[in-house]
Amino acid sequence: MELTDLATIRAVLKRHGFRFSKSLGQNFLTDPSVCPRMALACGADESKGVLEIGPGFGVLTKELSERAGRVVAVELDESLLPVLGETLDSCRNVEVVPGDVLKLDLAGLLKEKFGGMETAVCANLPYYITSPVLMRFLEERLPVASLTLMVQKEAARRLCAPPGSRDCGAVSVAVSYYARPKILFEVPRTSFYPQPNVDSAVIRLDVLPEPSVRVKNEKAFFALVRAAFGKRRKTVLNSISSGLGLEKSEILTALERAAVAPSARAEQLSIGQFAELSNRLEELKNEQ
Ligand code: SAM
Repeated sequence: MELTDLATIRAVLKRHGFRFSKSLGQNFLTDPSVCPRMALACGADESKGVLEIGPGFGVLTKELSERAGRVVAVELDESLLPVLGETLDSCRNVEVVPGDVLKLDLAGLLKEKFGGMETAVCANLPYYITSPVLMRFLEERLPVASLTLMVQKEAARRLCAPPGSRDCGAVSVAVSYYARPKILFEVPRTSFYPQPNVDSAVIRLDVLPEPSVRVKNEKAFFALVRAAFGKRRKTVLNSISSGLGLEKSEILTALERAAVAPSARAEQLSIGQFAELSNRLEELKNEQ
């Protein structure tokens, strides 16, 4: 069954009485060249497991199944389960798990389904949950080696922007704390059915064995980063002071100790400078 063919898609839809849900981000891939590229990019091979989020009709799942040792696909929309039963009928190494990727016990799932197997995530993500899904894997330090994800083009730029660059935001700093991100290729809106209003890009994040910088207090580090980007046009001195509710004199001392100019803007700071600043603020807290 050619799952990227519109006539096939329409026939399957009709047989199962399936209706697309906009609120679940259901834009399915119909460009036959994209899924093989994604499956290749995630590094799937016989020795590896792949966790897919949102298989839809199973178009990417099939490609993953041909390369990986084992594929587990989490799908929230239960009305897709009978469709997947048909489209993935011949894929013996695939298991579809019904559920919400934001609520499932993913650590338990990964352990149960993949055991000691090296595992990668590969998904055409529903765009409305891009950041929460990504941050769940990174913050909970779920045991996956990499994440290969189709996301909105703008989100790809933001997620992969190196700290210190113009497109950088709080989420870029968080990503580069846990992983090495890279934009792989762009995918136009015409590659999907129904067609979305935006173009997409496939990114790959290689999860680092250790965070890229050393911080004394991770929670305080991320609070500082969020505060710094909270008021983008302000200087770091003003945005951090108002965002964290701290005296300017205290921030000034920390900036001086970290050798960061008080007039700098958040997007000009490297991740090392954010770490240094956070550590100096922790130091000051302990001195009080
Ligand atoms: N993989 C298919 C493809 O590339 O054609 C479908 C991708 S579509 C952009 C996103 C899929 O994620 C849909 O099948 C949707 O039902 C599913 N989905 C949406 N929210 C989800 C959630 N919270 N947990 C798991 N799956 C979800």
